[in-house]
Amino acid sequence: MAAGWQDVVRDAAAVREAAAVAVDAALLAGGLMRTGGQPPASDVALLHPRLQVVNYAPFTLLPSAVPRALFEQAYAVQQDFNLLVDAISRNKEFLEQTLASTIKVDDFTARLFRIYAQVLEEGLAQTVFLGINRSDYMFDCGLDGTAALRQIEINTIAASFGGLTSRTADVHRLVLKVLGKTEEASQLLPNNPAKGLALGIAKAWELYGSQRAVVMFLVEEVQRNIFDQRCVEIELWNRNIRVIRRRFRDVFEQGSLDASRRLYMNGQEVAVVYYREGYVPQNYDQQNWEARLLLERSWAVKCPDIATQLAGTKKVQQELSRPGTLEKLLPGRPEAIARIRATFAGLYSLDEVSGAGLQQEWTSSHPHTHLGSLVENKRRLCCGNNLYGEELRQVLEKIKDSPERTSYILMDKIKPQPALNYLLRAHSPLQVSECISELGIFGVYVRQGQELVLNQAAGHLLRTKAIEHADGGVAAGVAVLDTPYLV
Ligand code: ADP
Ligand code: MG
Repeated sequence: MAAGWQDVVRDAAAVREAAAVAVDAALLAGGLMRTGGQPPASDVALLHPRLQVVNYAPFTLLPSAVPRALFEQAYAVQQDFNLLVDAISRNKEFLEQTLASTIKVDDFTARLFRIYAQVLEEGLAQTVFLGINRSDYMFDCGLDGTAALRQIEINTIAASFGGLTSRTADVHRLVLKVLGKTEEASQLLPNNPAKGLALGIAKAWELYGSQRAVVMFLVEEVQRNIFDQRCVEIELWNRNIRVIRRRFRDVFEQGSLDASRRLYMNGQEVAVVYYREGYVPQNYDQQNWEARLLLERSWAVKCPDIATQLAGTKKVQQELSRPGTLEKLLPGRPEAIARIRATFAGLYSLDEVSGAGLQQEWTSSHPHTHLGSLVENKRRLCCGNNLYGEELRQVLEKIKDSPERTSYILMDKIKPQPALNYLLRAHSPLQVSECISELGIFGVYVRQGQELVLNQAAGHLLRTKAIEHADGGVAAGVAVLDTPYLV
């Protein structure tokens, strides 16, 4: 699965030269992130360079090889996943049953669910629904050396890097030319998910039906990834749609609903609320929860609505892999179901792996899977919650008799074939690493009442990390942006 430049990877002089060009090109192209330094603004970097409030978003020096067939498979299944997420979000009974055990022990999911139930009981005001998700995969390398597409997760809220990723391909095209790989450079695919995301938001805005109304990006207190979001914003401004950026705190202070539950911010009507925040417990205090409830109760199009956020939990992912579940959720769609199922890794609830005999029982019923090769995805929606190997074994031992165990899921560990690359990060030495990649496909859909009026794949994102990191994430400082080179 090697790309055609493994020869230059060890050529220190060529790599140094290409890296210098790459970094400048990334800065020029706007592949940027705020560093989290103070003050939280973008322009200070120019006035006080040593404050470093903005730098380039980390990226690989070289594109990474991705098997063409798996790349195409991931695109081909995206509309099916859009349908599936939409179907889950409309199925109260499924969400209720699937999340029942999680809600008992996980306060975050429980609070989301309470809002969900409350909004349904009042009766939904929202009639137009907008989903923006990103389905993430790794390429699992089998014993015979063939690679298979395996879904890691689907992100149904605040799926990011649809903007910055388009900048990375331009930089890689240049790098390959610098390294004398002009032919390969010409093969890198164009990719601009931000355009597709904006198309979905614009469609939802249009169906909401008020020229005066704005699109509100719901953003974090510390907005490190602001440039990525700006890419989508600018696409909307180009369509003459007004965009405002507000935090939960602003919604708490300035948000209100009129008698028909139209949402207003300081008197300005909001058609679409696009969440780039609100996906982890740390995003909420009491006021923020109240703001979230206000938004959910409103007529505005929420991207996503709270049901769709719940559809993206790990517990739902595990339930989907149980025989018969997909058939219930997508009746009469056997082809879609087959495409979806073909991407699933082995997923198990801890109910299936019961009590005291956990380890023996598990290894005897799954002779080809060792506990040490399983990954546990905690109940949370995001970030640094996976356990592997010995650590996993210890936690399993600790929780084996506690009710908490029902909220955990087990997942087969995916083992991609590593390749050599350089991870370019500000202030980090240039050194070669053994790397693995994760491919994400962006999906966008819009539903008006019962009718799906838009359902598309909107582009891709490749993220690459050194193999020593078990978890991932560009924002978390582990993975970096990359470009697929199809082989
Ligand atoms: P989140 O992004 O919400 O933290 P993920 O499920 O995406 O949760 O897990 C984080 C990272 O952990 C992934 O990006 C991937 O690198 C790694 N990971 C997750 N599940 C597996 C798995 N089954 N096998 C191998 N790596 C995994
Ligand atoms: Mg993830």
